[in-house]
Amino acid sequence: MQQAALQATEKKRKWVFAKKPSGSLYKKRQWVGYSLLLFLFASPFIKIKGEPFLLFGVLERKFVIFGKVFWPEDLYVFVFGMLIVLVCIVLFTAVYGRVWCGWTCPQTIFMELIFRPIEYWIEGDRTQQLKNRRNKHKWEVKRKKILKLIVFYIISFFISNIFLAYLIGADALFEIITSPVSQHLGGFISILAFSFVFFFVFAYVRDIVCTHICPYGRLQSVLIDNDTTVIAYNYNRGEPRGRKSKSKPEAELGDCIDCNLCVQVCPTGIDIREGLQMECVSCTACIDACDDVMVKLNRPKRLIGFYTPSELLENKTASRKNKRAIAYTALLVVLIAIFGVLIFTRSDVSGTILRAKGSTYQLRDDGTVTNLYNLNLINKTNKNMDIQLEPNDSRFKIQVVNPHLNLQKSESSKMSLFLILPKEEVEDYKTNVRIKIMDEEKVLKEIKTTFIAPIGLVK
Ligand code: SF4
Ligand code: SF4
Repeated sequence: MQQAALQATEKKRKWVFAKKPSGSLYKKRQWVGYSLLLFLFASPFIKIKGEPFLLFGVLERKFVIFGKVFWPEDLYVFVFGMLIVLVCIVLFTAVYGRVWCGWTCPQTIFMELIFRPIEYWIEGDRTQQLKNRRNKHKWEVKRKKILKLIVFYIISFFISNIFLAYLIGADALFEIITSPVSQHLGGFISILAFSFVFFFVFAYVRDIVCTHICPYGRLQSVLIDNDTTVIAYNYNRGEPRGRKSKSKPEAELGDCIDCNLCVQVCPTGIDIREGLQMECVSCTACIDACDDVMVKLNRPKRLIGFYTPSELLENKTASRKNKRAIAYTALLVVLIAIFGVLIFTRSDVSGTILRAKGSTYQLRDDGTVTNLYNLNLINKTNKNMDIQLEPNDSRFKIQVVNPHLNLQKSESSKMSLFLILPKEEVEDYKTNVRIKIMDEEKVLKEIKTTFIAPIGLVK
């Protein structure tokens, strides 16, 4: 019965034994992938003025991007950031296909540049792995599999620590690691749970993430069209495929010798010669494999290459100036630049000022009119501030009810203040006033409010 269940599972899942990739594109992919991994592993631990380079503190509701602290009040930056990511995905896919998946997606990078090379190292290349599968009851095969799974779990544990560092910060993670388990049971359980999820994904789920789970892959068919550059097989050049034989002289054959190497090397197990498929993650491994064959046969490279479907339909392989690609790329650059400006010009202090509930104006015996306000300030930096307030209109004076203006780092403070105007200076029933919020004589922000005076005093 167990055997029947196993057979049923194996029937359902076509396990992919990808051949070890090699070639110039793979080398480039390694450079990109390992650089991104370095960035991913280092970012929560690098500090800029005491803050991590990147932190997504969902629990604490504190986010740090490039060393700049963001609070829930800065939601607009995140919304804009998310919009840019969305636009990037749509535009990039429309122009360059699924390049994100094969070259920059963490799932692919971890799988293809960490876990799969370890698999090759322990269990051997595709041929050996297929042999192992046939001999799966042998102790030597089992021993290698167990060793592989142990190494996979250790790496998953390491990734889980990094993941947690993004959520709670490197210091809190270090505290969990160095303290007795009983003191941080929640943290410890989280690390184990994340480790298990990563282990399960990379040891078992693998390519199913890209082919069945990730919604982006499913969106691909709506995002690409005949002008999208995709990884494709040039059937005009390749067909009819086959090896030279008596019945098939070379003159009657295309360039594809049907060696199947492009299929064997594919991490999702598809045959690119059957046309563009949702399972293709644009990893370019089949291009390298086929180029290698073409070089050996002394034929031009790129039988499998970067083509737009219309190029293949029209049988024109010369690269065309794709105006849409240029326009979309320019738009992306502009959006990213706006996002950069939003991040780097964001004020260190955020503040709201509201007229005290139910109040309008008060007349004082010293011949002045006053309005009472509640001011709420948030210090978004990691240094304490001694706040000074100054109206931009010299006719006004400010009197802070609670004159304690020390604003602690990463904290908020509420205070009440009067705006004071001599009666003889009143010119309007309602006057717009801007209040400068300063630290060490430097203006951090200006906030707007209105000042109300009795109509009888208006000249
Ligand atoms: S690697 Fe190239 S030659 Fe070999 S089957 Fe694939 S397309 Fe044909
Ligand atoms: S078809 Fe080629 S580019 Fe697409 S996933 Fe397979 S190997 Fe990668």
